[in-house]
Amino acid sequence: MHESCGIFGIYSPDEDVARLTFFALFALQHRGQESSGIATADGKKIRVITGMGRVSYVFDEGALSNLSGHIAIGHNRYSTAGSSRASNAQPIIVRNDDSSLAIANNGNIINAKYLYEELVGQGYKFNSTTDTEVIGNLILSSPGNNWVEKIQHAIRRLQGAYSTVVLTPDELFVIRDPLGVRPLCLGTVDSGWVVASESCALDHIGAAFVREVTPGEIIVINKNGLESYKGESSKKGACIFEYIYFARPDSIINGRLLYPARQAMGAGLAREYPVDADIVMGVPDSATAAGTGFARESGIPVVEGLIKNRYVGRTFIEPDQRIRDLGVKLKFNPLSQVLDGERLVVVDDSIVRGTTTPSVVKILRKAGAKEIHMRICAPPIKYPCFFGVDMATRRELIAAQKTIPEICEFIGADSLGYLSIDGLINSVGLPRDNFCLACFTGDYPIPVQLEMDKLELETMAAGGHQEVYDGTEGR
Ligand code: SF4
Repeated sequence: MHESCGIFGIYSPDEDVARLTFFALFALQHRGQESSGIATADGKKIRVITGMGRVSYVFDEGALSNLSGHIAIGHNRYSTAGSSRASNAQPIIVRNDDSSLAIANNGNIINAKYLYEELVGQGYKFNSTTDTEVIGNLILSSPGNNWVEKIQHAIRRLQGAYSTVVLTPDELFVIRDPLGVRPLCLGTVDSGWVVASESCALDHIGAAFVREVTPGEIIVINKNGLESYKGESSKKGACIFEYIYFARPDSIINGRLLYPARQAMGAGLAREYPVDADIVMGVPDSATAAGTGFARESGIPVVEGLIKNRYVGRTFIEPDQRIRDLGVKLKFNPLSQVLDGERLVVVDDSIVRGTTTPSVVKILRKAGAKEIHMRICAPPIKYPCFFGVDMATRRELIAAQKTIPEICEFIGADSLGYLSIDGLINSVGLPRDNFCLACFTGDYPIPVQLEMDKLELETMAAGGHQEVYDGTEGR
C-alpha cells in the first residue's frame, strides 16, 4: 500500500499530450520504477495503457500513438512487494452506472480500509489493492451536482496524504491534501496547463513553472480554462524527506531549490560533527550535493570515491530485500586510486534499515580507505511513515533498535554523526511547522493507528504488460 510515486497531468489542445506525459514521467522516474501508465481523453473517450517496469519499457511509439486526445495523466509507481502486480499500475479507471474516470495518486490514505469496506457494501467492485482505487470510487459515490462538488465531498472523508490527478472524458482535476504532504506544482505550456509531482518534470518538457498547488486545493482545467477551489488547511505537513532524498536536486519545492538545501545539510554536518580527515565524498547521487557542502564548510577536499552505475534502481525504493542487497553490489564501483590510504568522510542521505550502509563501508574499506567517518543528512529514523513512503516497520528501523554507537559498530565505520533536526530545518530554510518530521519524532501531523492493518483487497492477479482501452462517453 505504501507508495512514493510520480504523477503528471496536462490539458493542452495543441500538444501531443501522451508524448509530453511520457517525457515528464521519464523525468519523474526516480519516484517509482515498478510500473508506469498514461491515460488520455479526447472529449468523449478515456484511453489508458499501463504496464510493469519503467516508462521506457512500458511505452513505445505504437503505444503512444494509440493514446490520442488533448488531456492526459501519467503515473510512475513504487510499491511494496505484496502489491507488486500489474493490476495496481496507475492510472486506474473506476466506473459506476453513470460515469467513469481515470485516477493517479501519490500518497497513502490512512483510512482506506474503512472506506473500502463501505464502498464494497455499496456494490463498488475493486480490481486493484491500491488506495487510489478507493479515492476514485469514493469520488464516484459522493453526492454532488458536478465533479468539483463530488471531489469536495469525497476529500472531507479522506485521511492521509494524496497528491492526485483525475481525468474525465473532458476535464482534468488536480487535488492536494490539506497537509500538503507530497509535492505538486502547476505550470504552463503554450496552449495549456500541466501539473507534476516535481518542477524538474516541467523543465524537461519546456513548461514554465507557475506555482505550487496549495495544500487542500482542488483545480479544475477544461475548455473554459483553469479554476481553483482553495480548501481549508489549518496545519502543514510537507514531507521533509522530499528535501533529503526523494525529490531531484533540480526541483523547486515550497519555493526552494533543493540543491542548495542539500549542500546546507552537508555544511551543517561539518559544523555539528567535525573530523580530522583527508578527503570527503557524498554517496552518489542523492548525497552528492551534501558532500560538496561538507567539503566547503570543513575545507576538506571533495572527491568522487564511488562511481555509480546509473542504470541500477535506487536501493531504498526497490521493493524487496533480496533486490536491495544485490543492488548495492551492482550499483557502486569504488575508485581505489582515490581512496587508498586516505582518512575519508562519507556523507549519505539516510540510514533506514541499516542494510545498505555496511555494504558501502565494506566496499570503501576494500578499496583502501584508512578511516571511514559516516555523516548522515537525515536524523535517526525511529518511526514508520504512514504518508506514502515505504520505509520499514518500527522493528526494521535500525535507529529504533540500536543506539548511535551501536549503529556505528554495526555499519563498520570509525565514527558516525547524524544531522540534528534543528540542523535539518535550518538547511531547508523554512519554519519547522511547515513540515512532517514524524519519522524522526513520532509526532504525526494527524493521528495514525500505529499498527495499521494492511489493506489487502480482493484482486485480479494480472501479470505482465497490461493494456486497457476504455470507451467512456462524455458525462
Ligand atoms: S513520516 Fe517521514 S517520510 Fe513520512 S511524510 Fe513524514 S517526514 Fe516524510
